[in-house]
Amino acid sequence: MRIASIETIIADLPTRRPHHLAMATINSQGRVLARIRDESGNEGIGEAPVIPHYGAETVEGVKLLIDDYLGPSVIGQNPAALEAILLTMDKIVKDNAYAKGVVEMACVDLTARSFGVSAAALFGGAVRERIPTLWVLGTGDAAKDIAEAEEKMAAGLYKLFLVKIGKGDPRDDVARAAAVKQALGDRARVHVDINQSWNETTAVWAIERLQNAGIAVIEQPLPRADIEGMRRLSERFAVPIMADEAVDTIDSAMAFARNRAAGAFSLKLVKHGGLLRTRKVATIAEAAGLSLFGGTMLESSIGTAASAQLFSTVSRLDWGCQLFGPELFSDGLTVEQLVYQDFHLVVPSGPGFGMTIDPDKLAFYRRDGGRYRATQAKVLALVGQPWSYLRLEAYSFLGYARGHRVHLEARC
Ligand SMILES: [Mg+2]
Repeated sequence: MRIASIETIIADLPTRRPHHLAMATINSQGRVLARIRDESGNEGIGEAPVIPHYGAETVEGVKLLIDDYLGPSVIGQNPAALEAILLTMDKIVKDNAYAKGVVEMACVDLTARSFGVSAAALFGGAVRERIPTLWVLGTGDAAKDIAEAEEKMAAGLYKLFLVKIGKGDPRDDVARAAAVKQALGDRARVHVDINQSWNETTAVWAIERLQNAGIAVIEQPLPRADIEGMRRLSERFAVPIMADEAVDTIDSAMAFARNRAAGAFSLKLVKHGGLLRTRKVATIAEAAGLSLFGGTMLESSIGTAASAQLFSTVSRLDWGCQLFGPELFSDGLTVEQLVYQDFHLVVPSGPGFGMTIDPDKLAFYRRDGGRYRATQAKVLALVGQPWSYLRLEAYSFLGYARGHRVHLEARC
């Protein structure tokens, strides 16, 4: 069976609360969906979410690259030949892991569905059915972070937390992370992620204090290119230094492993260019004795299911995963819902990733003429008009909240 068509769609999902990272605040996040069909009409889906200012790619760029270059190059190929498809795309353009990754992801889903197996079965099979899952605290305020963490623990959903720091004064950042850890005590494990925001001097000062406060993992404190600095921090401190942005290709993974420049890697499907290349990075870490963490680009349930399938095959997932995207967004794009229970994410059983697109939700959230955009435009038009000229004839509010569909449409 051969690839007959590739369709790409940009869709934006709103978050339940502003999500503060060192480099951006996310209220709504874009993603590129790739839908690949074979000659029989079977379909596979991939998702490439883009965190603003995290990497080198954008949703618009990913879509254009697939539509005009990568897609045409793989039409007619066997979707099960993942390595061949990746090599074909490598010949078209270097790097651009998100764009290649989402194409490969859709091929994995299509192939696994065709075989009637889970995606994990294509990568050696699952070694775990559930993954301990971490919640990212990104309110930017210690009291709010603590309240949010207490709420998640009381609900039996999360007891692993990550505090996003690096945006403000390092003294405030350290105090906020330490306050969260002190409040939660031994009931929870707390990581921090700096997203490359410190220099080495600041990192030495701050990590000493974070380590003393009981923080379990320090993620990407230095700029991605500073492998020597990361090596010195790893030698200096007992607390593991995790590489995220710095480890994307298998070459960078090998360089970090060879130089002992990190104690752990954060795996992310589109960062590495798809499931096959993520598995290769994981294998390098496994061989080097490094621990692994299942990272997120804030995927919806599609990319989260794909990530969970791949992470379920990794032998050393010592730090669990942070696949909390579907819980951060106020809505999703699929018919099926992922199951979060007893501090774990349940790995979907498939076939493929085990997720199918909900056409209504996709129609609402797609950027090109979607109803979400149309409603946004109407609201903006309302705000821009003097209220005396407005005649609000009717509304219906179109939104989705946890399976409850409510319609709201502004007309004036
Ligand atoms: Mg990170």
